[in-house]
Amino acid sequence: MIKSKGYAAAAAKAPLAPYSFERRDPREHDVAIDIKFCGICHSDIHQARDEWGGSIFPMVPGHEIAGVVTAVGSKVTKFKKGDKVGVGCMVDSCRTCAPCQQGLEQYCTVGSIWTYNSRDKDGTPTMGGYSDNLVADENYVLRMPDNLPLDACAPLLCAGITLYSPLKHWQVGPGKNVAIVGLGGLGHMGVKIAHALGAEVTVLSHSLRKQEDSRRLGADHFHATSDPATFKKLRGSFDLIINTVSLPMDWNQFIALTNVNGSFVVVGIPDKPVAIAAFSLIAGRHSLAGSSIGGIRETQEMLDFCAQHGITSDIEVTPIQKVNEAFERMIKSDVRYRFVIDMASLK
Ligand code: NAP
Ligand code: ZN
Ligand code: ZN
Repeated sequence: MIKSKGYAAAAAKAPLAPYSFERRDPREHDVAIDIKFCGICHSDIHQARDEWGGSIFPMVPGHEIAGVVTAVGSKVTKFKKGDKVGVGCMVDSCRTCAPCQQGLEQYCTVGSIWTYNSRDKDGTPTMGGYSDNLVADENYVLRMPDNLPLDACAPLLCAGITLYSPLKHWQVGPGKNVAIVGLGGLGHMGVKIAHALGAEVTVLSHSLRKQEDSRRLGADHFHATSDPATFKKLRGSFDLIINTVSLPMDWNQFIALTNVNGSFVVVGIPDKPVAIAAFSLIAGRHSLAGSSIGGIRETQEMLDFCAQHGITSDIEVTPIQKVNEAFERMIKSDVRYRFVIDMASLK
């Protein structure tokens, strides 16, 4: 077994604290990774606080993992020692169901094995990237861009792919009008990627505070959802709206902002159900959909796209000792735009 140390939540709502544990020895197809950086996703907070139910404790969160390969199993062909690699939200899946065969491992019908708060095929709880090392099957490991800093690329592994996947699925490009609701970790990646794809991009933010930033990130327009006039002015405007907000909101009023055949796509995950009126969808043949991260092939495509377009996340690097403070600041939307833990602080 490999010794690991990191930070874990011992129980729901307990603050994260130093934690030592063990990982499996690398198997033939495994890659051992020295974790250099790990992004803090809002999903880490939801799960560490058991806001979705069923959390497994102790929990080492973290699924925006960037590091360097330290060893490879005898049958590994994709990576070698010293490679810059990443691991996102998944570390395995059944590999044989229809979604897995199509490269949509995040929709595995048997159940994707998540990087943490999940159980490996042998029943062992998985442990995430708020730690010094990781062992993962090479088929679920990504090549990180060579031309971009590793810390600012870590958030691409969840925030980046979670926006890239629906933007591609709904064929966003020149001539398309896209709105991103919530300019946080996910949202700011959505603005950058939609802009790079050539779309006209609008930010719908809950206050006016991020107006200046949104332009710098690549948005063409900015509106505050705290202003009721926004919902009158923008009626029927967008081909696609992606909602990244994790708080329950009235989705009906956002659906009304899509044009005929337009789609409102949910990626933010509130802990309570949201009521939708049938008329909201009928009045304009609107679609309501959801999207979860992206498959491994598409995640590599996204990383290569970001390398080509020079896209990284805007980050605030933090030592792991300040992770609980980072959680609190993130809840208040007080980060521009992603915390990334520097794992050197663990040593
Ligand atoms: P985040 O960085 O905390 O961003 C959330 C954003 O919500 C904030 O930046 C803020 O943007 C907005 N917001 C709206 N009303 C707010 C209010 N009253 N107070 C504070 N913020 C408010 O979170 P994230 O990491 O981007 O994650 C967002 C959600 O997506 C979470 O629910 C997470 O679990 C989920 N998620 C889903 C997937 C998936 O695969 N579907 C993947 C990753 C994460 P403004 O200031 O611009 O309003
Ligand atoms: Zn995430
Ligand atoms: Zn499967």
